[in-house]
Formats: sequence, C-alpha cells, structure tokens
Amino acid sequence: MDDLDGNAMGGLLQEIFGVEMTTAVETCGHCGTAALVAETAAYLRGPGAVMRCPTCTHVLMVVVRRQDMHCVDLQGMASLVPAGQAAPDRREYPVARPR
Ligand SMILES: [Zn+2]
Repeated sequence: MDDLDGNAMGGLLQEIFGVEMTTAVETCGHCGTAALVAETAAYLRGPGAVMRCPTCTHVLMVVVRRQDMHCVDLQGMASLVPAGQAAPDRREYPVARPR
C-alpha cells in the first residue's frame, strides 16, 4: 500500500484539534523517536486514517469518523505537542522501549 506523509492528515487534524498540527511534534510511544507530524506516514484508504512512526512504523494515531464525531486513538504516542508549545516533561510520559 502506498503511504503518504503526515501532511495528508493535516485537514483532518486541524478539524479535530482546531489548530495546525502538521508542524506539531509527536513522540513515538514505542521507539521514542520525535518527529514532525508532517514527517510521519499516513494511510487513508482504510475505514479510518492511520498515522505511523517514520522510524519503527508503530501505529501512532487512528482516527475513525462515526456519524457526526471523530474517534481518536492516541495510545501509540508518548506525546503530541503543537508548534510553539513547550514539550512535556518526559518523566510524566514514560516511553516503552522495545526489548
Ligand atoms: Zn517509533
């Protein structure tokens, strides 16, 4: 399946979060890689939109539209920080490391 970059989810994310999110920094909850949302891989052809880590391909975010609302699963991320905001204290967001 051809993957797109995170810019392909820009409109959807702006609708959900209310701000520009392609310049936000996400941290993968699996490998700890921090990257711009624009640099992630996006898959839009399934029943929902899926964002994957550009390093380890771990699922970072899943968005499914159900009737008139979006269901957003962010369990794959350790953090998601919009541009211009301070990064969270990493001690508050422990990252699981692969064995
Ligand atoms: Zn990763």
